Amino acid sequence: MTVFDPATATATYLATLDAASHARATAYTQGGHWILLWTTLVGLAVLMVILRSGVLVRLRDRLEARGIGPLRLTALVLGLSFGIEAILNLPWSIYADWSREKGYGLTSQALSGWLAEYALVSVLGILFTVPMGVALYALIRRSPRFWWAWSGALVAGAFTVMMVVAPVLIDPLFNQYKPAPPGPVRDAVVALAKANGVPSDRIFIYDGSRQSNRYTANVSGLMGSARIAMSDVMFKKDADIPEVRAVVGHEMGHYVLGHVWRNAIVLSLLAVLGLFLVDRLFSFAARLLGAPGVRDLADPAGYPVIAALLLVLGLASTPVTASLTRIGEIESDRFSLERAREPDGLARALVKTIEYRAATPGWLEEVLFYTHPSVGSRVRMAMDWKAAHKAAPMPVILVRPDQVPQ
Ligand SMILES: [Zn+2]
Repeated sequence: MTVFDPATATATYLATLDAASHARATAYTQGGHWILLWTTLVGLAVLMVILRSGVLVRLRDRLEARGIGPLRLTALVLGLSFGIEAILNLPWSIYADWSREKGYGLTSQALSGWLAEYALVSVLGILFTVPMGVALYALIRRSPRFWWAWSGALVAGAFTVMMVVAPVLIDPLFNQYKPAPPGPVRDAVVALAKANGVPSDRIFIYDGSRQSNRYTANVSGLMGSARIAMSDVMFKKDADIPEVRAVVGHEMGHYVLGHVWRNAIVLSLLAVLGLFLVDRLFSFAARLLGAPGVRDLADPAGYPVIAALLLVLGLASTPVTASLTRIGEIESDRFSLERAREPDGLARALVKTIEYRAATPGWLEEVLFYTHPSVGSRVRMAMDWKAAHKAAPMPVILVRPDQVPQ
């Protein structure tokens, strides 16, 4: 009788990918850490160009001369700034978000399709962010000393609206969501949903393969709009029911454990802290970047200074936000193991994510950058659970010496 050894089982799962695939995954993942830094630097350069060109200051002066009120003035100045940003950031985005993904075989999307979506994202971003910015500047004018504290409520509100609205209004612009068709996959998922008090009529399959070859599923929405969506990449080959149960069990974990709410609270607190620092550092940053004609914090023509500070603070907070997500991922894996009881299904699904998330990063690298625990430690957790519960059969077909094929 063979004793089940979690370490060996984990190594066996990781070895289902050859050394070259692991090396490519590591190159992709570690390159991604540098992309974070470069994206920030490119963003800073773009904001500096906008500031030094004086284009926002000229627009502000012209609108003031025409007697335009502060709300409309802010909206127009911010709209212009966001528009220029989207155009100037485009070349870098083509490289980082499309060409690089293409190079690693992680997307099959044509550049034209990607560009159309970039344009749509930019327009939606402007439509959503301009009112936010107008509200923020109104707070600055009304409460010059404590606007940053009030802004926490603004961010929490915006986050909630976004969560409710995204699955209904935004996601369908990019992908087709269809209720999972009748059959064994749907039956398995519905049974799991019913057993865990999750609405079972809100389980969708979407054409995620349009944008990305990543093996993935997600949970989104709030209250009435909450749903679980699985990318069709999961079903490129014959559906593996234990795998689907394990993945959907994980997504149900996010839903049942209320991770959305926790994230909303933590992100709002981070926003308050970030905007407090913006308040304190604005003059210093304006001098550093060079902001001719910008009067003070309350001047929307100085928006790129705020954006630059938020970019740097955002980068600095990566370990915090990544860790917040990572902790939720561990909890959801545990939820999946307890409720779906498919340690091998989970392990098989996880192995497929290695291509975009290297399996065995260093400890510090995982803490700083990984939004998910490494596949190595996640598979190990599944195998430890399996060893403790001895529920499912061995993942590896053990060949006894007398059965070695000739
Ligand atoms: Zn997750």
